[in-house]
Amino acid sequence: MTLSERDKKHLWHPLTQHKTSLDTLAIIKAEGVKLWDENGKEYIDGISSWYTCMYGHCNAYITNKVAAQMQKLDQVVFSGFTHEPAIQLSEELIKILPTNQEKLFFSDNGSTSTEIGIKMALQYHFNLGNERKVMLAFEEGFHGDTFGAMSVSGLSVYNGAFEHHFLEVVRIPVPTGENNLDVLQKLEELIEQHALAGFIYEPLVQGAAGMKMHDAAGLNAILKICREHEIITIADEVMTGFGKTGKNFASEYLEEQPDIICMSKALTAGLLPMAITSCSMKVYNAFYDNDIAKGLFHGHTYTANPLSCTAALAGIDLLNSEEIQQNIQQVIQSHSNFLKEIKDHPKVMNSRQLGVILAFELNVEMERYGNLRNKLFKHFMESGVFLRPLGNTIYILAPYVISKKELQKIYDSILAALEIF
Ligand SMILES: *Cc1c(COP(=O)(O)O)cnc(C)c1O
Repeated sequence: MTLSERDKKHLWHPLTQHKTSLDTLAIIKAEGVKLWDENGKEYIDGISSWYTCMYGHCNAYITNKVAAQMQKLDQVVFSGFTHEPAIQLSEELIKILPTNQEKLFFSDNGSTSTEIGIKMALQYHFNLGNERKVMLAFEEGFHGDTFGAMSVSGLSVYNGAFEHHFLEVVRIPVPTGENNLDVLQKLEELIEQHALAGFIYEPLVQGAAGMKMHDAAGLNAILKICREHEIITIADEVMTGFGKTGKNFASEYLEEQPDIICMSKALTAGLLPMAITSCSMKVYNAFYDNDIAKGLFHGHTYTANPLSCTAALAGIDLLNSEEIQQNIQQVIQSHSNFLKEIKDHPKVMNSRQLGVILAFELNVEMERYGNLRNKLFKHFMESGVFLRPLGNTIYILAPYVISKKELQKIYDSILAALEIF
């Protein structure tokens, strides 16, 4: 039996309706930007395995450091104990975060990082004796699949079973530039009507919504109003963090700094799961008290796992290196040339780019194709390129270390799709 056949017996996959889904593909090896399946076919990982392995799969610099750490200290409780990988990571991460960020709280994945950000915002006001319980979020935002994260996500089309258990959330559209004044007015109205505790947002690029990009000046104006009304701002940089937008964090495009930042995905360079929620002293100080109950009583068993911290440290080393910074610039330049080539194609709509993220919508009658998304996916995979279209949105978010030739292979596969569909 093949791995794909054996898989069916006991495994339940994420985000999958098993009755109607395509068969799963068994991957047996990964290196650099490539994946190999059990039949020996190779694929370019055009989405960095969900935006994680930005320095390439099985990067030897990272795996060697983790292998060495693994023989020294594997795991220890982080409540009442500490260790060098976490301390060193805190020192290096604080250097590249927006300047107001001072404290790091560890967890295991993107959803827990936003869950913690939301809890920090709600308890901040609770501790100060403010009656504020409502969260503000963008329409079409995505912040994860745990209850708090699901509540603030505006994309929960399949989350009907849980709707009656959600936090209280109000929403504003993303600022597009043209609608900025309307969005700001809606925000002012919501501030009048609700006791807003915090605002959670994906800065500049909404990943799961289909790599939708919005206006930096508009977002900056929203954050300024939030600051003036003591609404705690939570930048969910789980997708955008660690260089993807052309800066270490998307928040660097803005003058206003967030109170809280959520990180995961590329944080550990695709090697191990971990997340961090960072915050400013303003947030931290609201929890710092002689009263034990004012502390943040949240903790996961594997908090600040030393191996994950080591992977994150190695990832930051690489991000800071001249080589990776050059790679990022090359990908940005290459994408921008490709965009020029396709932007006037009749089947290309809303072509856009920020940093190494390139996206557009395929302008075809969806009905003509039945399940267009699956057909596109099949087309890309058959041509040896792993891209994962979202509806009719096609996007590239490849590892920084991708070569010119490999990038061209992705572009060629997209150009072929423009002819076929
Ligand atoms: C992926 C993602 C999450 C959730 O992270 P998980 O590790 O999948 O739980 C949250 N926010 C954003 C912006 C994401 O892209």
